[in-house]
Amino acid sequence: MEETTSRSSSKVVAVVGGGLVGALNACFFAKRGFQVELFEAREDIRRARHMKGRSINLALSHRGRQALQHVGMEEKIVSQGIPMNARMIHSPSGKLSSIPYGKKGQFILSVDRANLNRELLTEAETYPNMQLNFDHKLQDWSAETGLMTFARSDGSVQEIQADLIVGCDGAFSAIRKQFLRRSRFNYSQTYIPHGYMELTMPPVHGEFAMEPNYLHIWPRNTFMMIALPNLDKTFTCTLFMPFEEFEKITTGEEVMEFFHRYFPDTIPLIGADYFRLPAQAMVSVKCSPYHIGDKCVLMGDAAHAVVPFYGQGMNAGFEDCVVFDEMMEQFKEDLSVVLPEYTRVRVPDDHAIADLAMYNYVEMRAHVNSRWFLFRKLLDNF
Ligand code: FAD
Repeated sequence: MEETTSRSSSKVVAVVGGGLVGALNACFFAKRGFQVELFEAREDIRRARHMKGRSINLALSHRGRQALQHVGMEEKIVSQGIPMNARMIHSPSGKLSSIPYGKKGQFILSVDRANLNRELLTEAETYPNMQLNFDHKLQDWSAETGLMTFARSDGSVQEIQADLIVGCDGAFSAIRKQFLRRSRFNYSQTYIPHGYMELTMPPVHGEFAMEPNYLHIWPRNTFMMIALPNLDKTFTCTLFMPFEEFEKITTGEEVMEFFHRYFPDTIPLIGADYFRLPAQAMVSVKCSPYHIGDKCVLMGDAAHAVVPFYGQGMNAGFEDCVVFDEMMEQFKEDLSVVLPEYTRVRVPDDHAIADLAMYNYVEMRAHVNSRWFLFRKLLDNF
């Protein structure tokens, strides 16, 4: 560890994006002794009153837990999650059947996205060699010099240089834009016809409205709903459905009719927030290579945004951090070796997860008439 610290201490690593993967990754680099600068476009979510963005809760699996363990965060995050030992399948008639995730005692965890992000930022801040910079939106950067330009909300612009730039700025990565201008960079982006909408199921008499230690699933041929428990005894239900179906529902009566038809058991339980936000799009992004020279590397959704039908997007992003860190150890932090090696090893694995997630989504659509088939696919996915 001391040897590592002396190797890295003079080098500056800029982590762009302070979401789940960026905040965790910053801890990995700080632990190695680099001078870490984290840049996040948004204000500090620990002080923000409103949180915009994606899913309220997420399924944390073994992959993700392993990564948290590396930075000493596993226990804390696990203690704030709700174990889901099995899926609970809700048939259209309201019949329930549970299918365990694995052997007795095995489970995945429902964790609060915002809380996880806050905890990771707070952990990052404990390193003396870490600087968190909020309200810094990356506008441009140079792969040749490592010079980055950030815009602030007061209209000012800041220029900062780093030895290594780590792009963790999500599915629409500004860092990745530079990659697109370069020769032999492969890139594909696919929006699926489905959107998702989150609905809240409040507690009933102060208790969970359904059994809490399950990932609840309502498979309904071309669409489905899932529900994950939260610590405040609510459930976050996510309805996945083609946009054209969402668009057909325009009035309160139509919402009720739809739920009566497909999710009758949820009617007494679900909150009235269908029209709060429009359905959100889901994109799958694949690219290669993940690095430019020894200057820049992409991780998390910036490298591989996947559709959420495997619940592995964040988990795979967390695993990126572990794989990179292991290579840093193996190749003594020689970035000219680590970065190409990271691309070589990681691209096929991340692409496989993206393909599997997309394959399952396509299979679900293609076998719309086979309830049993769909049922089996759903069990494979969640
Ligand atoms: P993000 O979370 O997108 O964070 C990127 C950060 O970069 C943000 O904070 C953003 O503000 C910042 N940023 C963006 N542009 C700039 C810029 N120009 N300058 C500075 N900062 C910038 N994954 C799972 O593992 N399990 C699940 O159960 C699961 N469920 C999901 C359900 C849904 C509905 C969806 C949509 C996704 C789900 N995922 C799940 C996937 C998961 O949300 C993502 O994989 C994860 O958020 C990726 O983290 P990230 O840090 O790479 O990107």
